[in-house]
Amino acid sequence: MKKYFIKVFGCAMNVADTERIAGWYEARGYRRTEKPREANEVVIVTCSVRQTAEDRVYGLINNLAKYKIPALPAGRQNTKYKIILTGCMLRYPLKYLKEKLPNVDEFVKISNFKFQNSNLHEHSSKVCALVPIMEGCNNFCSYCVVPYARGREVSRPFEEIVCEVEGLARRGYKEITLLGQNVNSYGKDFPPEEKRRFLNCFNDLNHCIKNLFATLLRTLHKIGGLEKISFLTSNPWDLDDNIIEAMALPKIDRYLHLPVQSGDDEILRKMNRHYTAEDYLKLVKKIRTKIPDIKIGTDIIVGFPGETEEQFQNTVQLCKKVGFVKAYVAMYSPRLQTAAYKLVDEISHKEKRRRWKILDDLINKNPAQNDKFLSYVR
Ligand code: SAH
Ligand code: SF4
Repeated sequence: MKKYFIKVFGCAMNVADTERIAGWYEARGYRRTEKPREANEVVIVTCSVRQTAEDRVYGLINNLAKYKIPALPAGRQNTKYKIILTGCMLRYPLKYLKEKLPNVDEFVKISNFKFQNSNLHEHSSKVCALVPIMEGCNNFCSYCVVPYARGREVSRPFEEIVCEVEGLARRGYKEITLLGQNVNSYGKDFPPEEKRRFLNCFNDLNHCIKNLFATLLRTLHKIGGLEKISFLTSNPWDLDDNIIEAMALPKIDRYLHLPVQSGDDEILRKMNRHYTAEDYLKLVKKIRTKIPDIKIGTDIIVGFPGETEEQFQNTVQLCKKVGFVKAYVAMYSPRLQTAAYKLVDEISHKEKRRRWKILDDLINKNPAQNDKFLSYVR
């Protein structure tokens, strides 16, 4: 029997892709193995968001290549797996990738693994299923490769998602996590007639509606058997009142991931994030007024080009005011293709690390202190 092995790097979207790739292989009669040496095909789902993520892929491929040397001494088994690379590193020109990664046998765009409804494949968790609701991103934050790696925003059809989640509930899933780079703008890309069709049947027309995310949450909320609905990731500027109202429904997760990236207005502007620190704090306050028990986590980048100590301190202040329950703090990594790549990455690794530690200690190592601040923005 043929076997496949998958290694995944990066975000929840990649994990969801992995589940679908697994489904693709299973449908062809392959079995999964956790040992690459047993596999006929080794698939690596890559992340390109930071250089360190790419470095790990290079390291893994070097290791894998050691076991697929064509002519091994007599008596030693020759492993003949094929190495297949997919995921966000495919944003680079193929010629460049082939040169940099000569041991990779095939480069396959993620869209070439023909995806099917997630009811047709197993989920890595038996309790919580990952459900992608959109692909890509239109925001072009100046540091970020996602719009290049995953293309423009495309929302999955509304009924398809509802149908998929109904199926998951029937199969006993109690929790789902809706996935997208910017879930709050779900449906923004649908033609107006399409949007109106859904809004009419849900009587939402009184609201000024730009997206269908709130409508999607309300619809999924009615599905029997489901107990918890989470979603990743929210962008502060698309999180409108209508969404906040839907978030207050009882089955919606009381954890909200709301990346702020920086607490300094000038840096936020340079990052092409469309809000100020004050806008963010006001939004947090509005959410907490409506949903008092909500916990908020975030993503932050330290050492963005030109970030002064004072600007960094503005981020520290914002974090203290919000009282995040957790934060993914990243040291800025210049990425080819992005707008910020043109800026000089002048902050040393040592200094980035110092700033990283301050925030990591404040937010992730100090929950007690955090709690003290939780009431601040209420
Ligand atoms: N769609 C999500 C984030 C996707 S990337 C959002 O809009 O928030 C995940 C996280 O990686 C980002 O939130 C950011 O904090 C970090 N990141 C992205 N590009 C980066 C870069 N060039 N250097 C360092 N961190 C980066
Ligand atoms: Fe990247 Fe910004 Fe899109 Fe998030 S919103 S994926 S950070 S471009």
